[in-house]
Amino acid sequence: MSGPVWVEDVAGEDAPASAGRVDVAPSREAEVGGHRVRRALPQRLRRTVGAWCFADHMGPAQVTEDTGLNIGPHPHTGLQTVTWLVAGEVLHRDSLGSEQIVRPGQLNLMTAGYGVSHAEERTGRYRGEAHGIQLWVAQPEATRHGPPAFEHHDSLPQAAFGAAEATVLVGEVDGVASPARRDTDHVGVDLVLRQGVAVLPARSDFEYALVVLSGAVHVEGAAIVPGQLGYLGLGRDELSLSTDRAGARAVLLGGAPFEGRLFMWWNFVARSKEEVDMAYRDWQAGTERFGETGSALDRIGAPTPPWWRS
Ligand code: MN
Repeated sequence: MSGPVWVEDVAGEDAPASAGRVDVAPSREAEVGGHRVRRALPQRLRRTVGAWCFADHMGPAQVTEDTGLNIGPHPHTGLQTVTWLVAGEVLHRDSLGSEQIVRPGQLNLMTAGYGVSHAEERTGRYRGEAHGIQLWVAQPEATRHGPPAFEHHDSLPQAAFGAAEATVLVGEVDGVASPARRDTDHVGVDLVLRQGVAVLPARSDFEYALVVLSGAVHVEGAAIVPGQLGYLGLGRDELSLSTDRAGARAVLLGGAPFEGRLFMWWNFVARSKEEVDMAYRDWQAGTERFGETGSALDRIGAPTPPWWRS
């Protein structure tokens, strides 16, 4: 459940971080490993929410032992992948030697740093609904040139806020903190909403956004549904969310606006074309930078960067 990101996703100027209103923008339909995804981030006018720089909502879809997601080895730089499933299972293998199935309620968090590669495979044992989200967090200058890492969390802390059952994936809400690594000041929360109102404490120096996985989430008169990014901006000290009788599932993303300008292309989060060019060459040449995953799937070759065509 990874990338890639194309130039059209990221070739914009961010709209200003607004305060006190809700901007609802459509996600872009994309394809990952033969599966349709709804890419809520990045958008032309909204490339980041805090350090969150990528959000692919996949499914729900019915899969069999032979049709589940199967993505061969590919590289990453400068980001963390956050894999969170509502249904299904995915086997992660990476160049650190990790081999880890992730299932609903569990978190896989891979830190790329200067370079890592991974594969995301079907287990060959699952049949049923597949539904989840993969998020990327841009790493700050302090860690983006550093070593890769991988962590898996079997369970995460939960808390109730009115009509919402919250699971804290990353960061902290109301003193409930995830054990997951975090290199910037950001938060990610899964919300299971039932009919009624949920009021979550918020930080006024954070910008927030909602990616709705099912149902409709109402925020200040706006209804946010799957296939959209609901951007809530800065300056709030609480978030009041509600849904109707059918209930809803959503992921809340937040964080201090990201410092610095990203240059994202394909599976690389960088700061310049030159950095992407180097990562591209290193991956294509099979240098040690990205290692070996041990996956039996074919390695995915990088497309030629479009700016190379003069
Ligand atoms: Mn990936």
